[in-house]
Amino acid sequence: MCARYGIEIAGVTKGAAGNPDIARIMLGSGIRVLADSRLANIARLRASGISAPVMLLRPPSMGEVDEAAGLADIFLLSETSTIQALNRACGRLGKQARVIAMVDLGDLREGISPSQLPSLIAEVERLEHSTIVGIGANFACHTGLMPNEQSMATLSTLAQAAEEQLGRSLEYVSAGNSSSIPLMATGQLPPVVNHFRLGESLLLGRETAAGTPISGTHQNAFSIVAQVLEVWWRNVDDSCERGANALGRNTAPLRPGKRHLAMLNFGAIDAEISGAIPVDPNVEITGFSSDLVIADVTHADDVTVGDEIEFTLNYHALATAMSSPYLLQTDAYGTTMSATKDRERANV
Ligand SMILES: *Cc1c(COP(=O)(O)O)cnc(C)c1O
Repeated sequence: MCARYGIEIAGVTKGAAGNPDIARIMLGSGIRVLADSRLANIARLRASGISAPVMLLRPPSMGEVDEAAGLADIFLLSETSTIQALNRACGRLGKQARVIAMVDLGDLREGISPSQLPSLIAEVERLEHSTIVGIGANFACHTGLMPNEQSMATLSTLAQAAEEQLGRSLEYVSAGNSSSIPLMATGQLPPVVNHFRLGESLLLGRETAAGTPISGTHQNAFSIVAQVLEVWWRNVDDSCERGANALGRNTAPLRPGKRHLAMLNFGAIDAEISGAIPVDPNVEITGFSSDLVIADVTHADDVTVGDEIEFTLNYHALATAMSSPYLLQTDAYGTTMSATKDRERANV
C-alpha cells in the first residue's frame, strides 16, 4: 500500500522488543530499514546477525552516545549537543552519522521549531562526521496531535526549503508513524513526503490515533495465552469496603453473587493488563496483581485448571509482553522464538 503512494517504510521493532524473528519477517517483506528507540533492542538485532540499516528513534543519553554510534546508522535528532557528541563518536569509529532533523509540529516531543530548522541543518552540515539525510516529524505520539493536510503541507514546505539550502534532495521526508496512514490512503500526502516509521500498523494491523483496523491486515497476529492455575465458585460480596489493591489501584466494581472465577498465570509485571482483551467475549478480567489475573468465567464454557485462555493485545500490552523476561515467546507453530527465557509462565 505504501509503495503505491511512493512511501518507504522503516519497520519499527520496539513493539516486539527488537525480536529478531519479527525483524526478519519485516525484512523479508520488502522493508529495507529497521527502527527502534532502544539500544538494547538494536543490540539484540545485531547479535542475531541482522546487518540491515537501523534508525535510532530516540536520542541517546550522553552515556549512550558511543554505543549508539556503533549500533545505529540513521539518527532522529534535533538537540545540537547530542548531535555534536554523536559526531565525535562517529569520528572515532570512522563512520558517518546520517541525521534526520526532527521538527516539532505540535506533538511536543523532540524536535526544533520550524523556524530553527535552517540553522540546525547548517550546523550539522558543518560537522565532519555527520550528514543531514532527511527531516521528520512526530504525530499522535506524546500528545495525540493528529496529522492533517495542514501539518503535512508545513512539512512539505520545510522539506523543499531544506533541499534548496542543501543543494540536494533529501533521502527521507519522514511524516510520522502509523497514524499517518489514513492521510496517505486518502491521497492527502504532499508528493515530497516519502517515508513513514511504522510499528503498530505492521504488528497489529491498526493505525495509532483511533486504533482503526487497516483493511487487508490481521489484528490478532500476537496474543497472550495464559494458563488457568485455579478455578473457583465464589460468592462475591460487593458490599464490603474495598480500598486500593496491591498495586495501589482502585478496582472496578465487582459483579455480585455466585461467580465462577479463574486465576491465570500472568500479571501486571508481564503486560499492561488493561490492553489485554479476552478473545472469548464470555471471559471478563475482574482484577489483577503483579503476577496474577483473575477472570470471571461464569458465562464461559467449562473452564478447568490447565486450560488456556487467550487475549488479544493493544500496542501497550504487546510492547510490555514482548519485553517481559517471564513470558515465553513462541511462534504460531509453538516453536520458541530466539532469545527468550525458557522458564515458562504464560505464552505470548
Ligand atoms: C515508536 C515510534 C514510531 C512508530 O509508531 P507506530 O505508531 O507504532 O507506528 C515512529 N516514530 C517514532 C519516533 C517512534 O518513537
